[in-house]
Amino acid sequence: MLEVSSIADCRAACRDLGSVALVPTMGALHEGHLSLIRIARRHAPRVAVSLFVNPTQFGPHEDLSRYPRTPEQDLRLCAAEGVDLVFMPEASAMYPPGAPQATIDVPALSETLEGRHRPGHFRGVCQVVAKLFNIVQPVAACFGQKDFQQLRVVEAMVRSLDMPIAVVRCPTVREPDGLAMSSRNRYLSADERKRALSISRALRAAAQEFDAGARQGSRLVATMRAVLLDPSGHGRVPFSIDYLAAADAETLATIDEIDRPVVCAIAARVGNTRLIDNVLLAP
Ligand code: AMP
Repeated sequence: MLEVSSIADCRAACRDLGSVALVPTMGALHEGHLSLIRIARRHAPRVAVSLFVNPTQFGPHEDLSRYPRTPEQDLRLCAAEGVDLVFMPEASAMYPPGAPQATIDVPALSETLEGRHRPGHFRGVCQVVAKLFNIVQPVAACFGQKDFQQLRVVEAMVRSLDMPIAVVRCPTVREPDGLAMSSRNRYLSADERKRALSISRALRAAAQEFDAGARQGSRLVATMRAVLLDPSGHGRVPFSIDYLAAADAETLATIDEIDRPVVCAIAARVGNTRLIDNVLLAP
C-alpha cells in the first residue's frame, strides 16, 4: 500500500495505478468506511482512500479541533482491506495560506436540512471533493447514504460540471442495535449512546408506518418526533432536535403527499454531540 501526503506524489501514484475508485474520508475509520472500500473495489481495479479532516467544511463553532484523529489505526485498516493508495495531505498542502481559493456551490440542494444549521458546510464539501477528484482523477467515488444530503450535493456537482466520475451510493452501516456508525459516536458516554438510539428508532418507526401505507410526510415527521422525545427510560441526557424532515429524495424539498422516493432525515444533539441519520423510503 502506498502512503502519500503531497499532491504531486498522489498524482504520480494515481497515474501509475491506472483506473482508481476513490473513497474520500475524514479518517477515524469504522466499519461504515470499510464497507465503502469493499464496494469501491467492485468499481475499479485499484482503490484509493483519502484521510483528510477538511477544515473548510467545519463552521467556526464546530468540532474541527476535537474531531477524532487515528491515523495509525486508519492505515492498518486500509492495509488490511487491500487498499492500493492512501492520500493523507496536511491542510497547508490542500489550502496554502494566502492562496486565493475557488469554491463550488450547489445552492438548490445546500440550503435546506444540514445547510440551514451548518451554513457553508456543503461549499466546503464540494471544494474538497472537487480537489480530491482533480488530484486522484478516479473513475468512481463512493459515498455513504448516511450523509444523504452530501451524496445528493456531490451527485449534482458531478452532473452539473460534467465530471467523468461515477458517484456510487453505499448503504448505511449500523451497529447491531441500530445506531448508524459514525466517527462522532466515540464522543458519546454510555448514557448518551443509549439516548442516541432514539434516532434510529424514530426512523424505523417512520419506515414501519410507511410500510403500513402511510403516505403523508407530516404524519411520518410527527411519528419521528414522538419517538425522539419519548422521555421513558432516557435518564437526564440533554437532547435536542436540530431538524426532522420528510423530503423529496431528489430535490430535498419538503414533501407532504408521498408519491415518489422520500428521505426521512434527523439531526439531533445528544449532550455535546451532533448526530445525523436518515432512511430512504420508496412508494
Ligand atoms: P466521513 O469520514 O464521516 O466524512 O465519511 C466518509 C464517507 O463515509 C462518507 O461518504 C460517509 O457518508 C461515509 N460513511 C460514514 N458513516 C457511514 C456509515 N455508517 N455507513 C456508510 N457510510 C458511511
